[in-house]
Amino acid sequence: MELKGKKVLVVGLGKSGLAAALFLRRRGAQVTVSDVRSAAALSRDIPALLEEGIMVEAGGHGLLTFRRQDLIVVSPGVPMNTPELVQVRTLGLPIIGEVELAARYLKGRTLAITGSNGKTTTTSLCGEILAAGGRRTAVGGNIGLPVIALVDDSTDEGWSVLEISSFQLETTENFRPNISVILNITPDHLDRHGSFENYVAAKERIFAKQTPEDALVLNADDEASAKTAVHAGAGGHGPNIYWFSRRRIVRQGAFVHDGTIFFRAAENAAQEPILRVDEIPLKGGHNVENVLAAVCAARRAGIDASAIRTAVVNFKAVAHRLEFVAQLHGVSYYNDSKATNVDATIKALEAFPGGIHLILGGKDKGSDYRVLRPLLTERVKAVYTIGAAAEKIHTHIEGATTVIGAGTLDAAIAKAAEAAKPGEIVLLAPACSSFDQFENYEQRGQAFKDLVLEKQGIGYRG
Ligand code: ADP
Repeated sequence: MELKGKKVLVVGLGKSGLAAALFLRRRGAQVTVSDVRSAAALSRDIPALLEEGIMVEAGGHGLLTFRRQDLIVVSPGVPMNTPELVQVRTLGLPIIGEVELAARYLKGRTLAITGSNGKTTTTSLCGEILAAGGRRTAVGGNIGLPVIALVDDSTDEGWSVLEISSFQLETTENFRPNISVILNITPDHLDRHGSFENYVAAKERIFAKQTPEDALVLNADDEASAKTAVHAGAGGHGPNIYWFSRRRIVRQGAFVHDGTIFFRAAENAAQEPILRVDEIPLKGGHNVENVLAAVCAARRAGIDASAIRTAVVNFKAVAHRLEFVAQLHGVSYYNDSKATNVDATIKALEAFPGGIHLILGGKDKGSDYRVLRPLLTERVKAVYTIGAAAEKIHTHIEGATTVIGAGTLDAAIAKAAEAAKPGEIVLLAPACSSFDQFENYEQRGQAFKDLVLEKQGIGYRG
């Protein structure tokens, strides 16, 4: 795609929008950036953009600005039903996302990972494994650098390992990863996607352009993924499917047998032992799933079993994902602030046999908290609710366990610490996003860690 002289509008000045605007400008496009936030809110980035010769429209979108373009690049935070986008779409103007733009220029091979939960963990793990296998590897997407920022350093021999969200997939067109992974599909972000069907359809775009030369890794234990496989296999032109399962032996892919993870490259191929489950340093059965998915992707990429094992054994939990914080008076504190949906909270509860004091709440995303009830009754001593969703949560889980309204994270920790006995657990796995009381999940997790360690009398950051 020739960009020189083209009029391109970047909608949304987030991290990826900024990187996309600079990329386009350096390739000779006439670039404008449009954002609904005020010039004051964008003041940090505006000088650098103007210096590069990029025009900035702040404080709202102008329909004329949109109509004047040859191409529109949308940031993942911008909904596709934004009125100006809907209008220009009817005019036939091409609208793509930053991932699509990047994919058109990225050299080498790509491994793309999506799913409702586990993307960051599995993407980091795959990056470590490919690097341990001696591949030139860059990791990016929804994690670290935007995909467009990987383009300049990409080479024909290298691999890009990409974390891709459903929002990013909404605006892909010709994106064709050599290997794609869908870890799981459970309800999340229904407030933005409208329905579960739309959400699944967005995830399925990851393999829409794949052919039998490419690979798709799917979760055999996940109901929605099985349906996805039918779509991927339709017409016989789709990717070669590898399955992973914790519960049964699969024909092609990775599975657990007698406490060992095996890989089978093809239906009649031998079962290859990779590593033992008890060698995985991460907590919880869901992380076994992440490792199984990574094994499929890595073996398909030609990485041998010993490099995979080395990378997995040395892998450290990513911060805010079921991260151990401290033990105080025999009580263990875990920070799973990234558990921003109900399924992630279920996985966190499944990682402990019982004695859990659970902090739940934040900003509701249209979730059904009733599905937590069986696990709450079985394993949770008390729930401490915080934030805007507290009332809804209370109604949904009442009677399943003791529910205590705490309001703030600070109060929740204080109440939980007082009630918890030695050997028990205080767990922040809130099943909600953080935006009602915090800037993001990282800030919420850091606040949890700081408050816990304050109790211990330790000044702590990190
Ligand atoms: P994502 O990038 O998809 O949000 P993360 O690796 O950041 O995924 O993990 C998000 C949350 O989901 C954390 O609470 C983590 O403990 C939990 N989690 C990680 N892997 C899985 C999985 N395979 N299934 C369900 N939950 C998971």
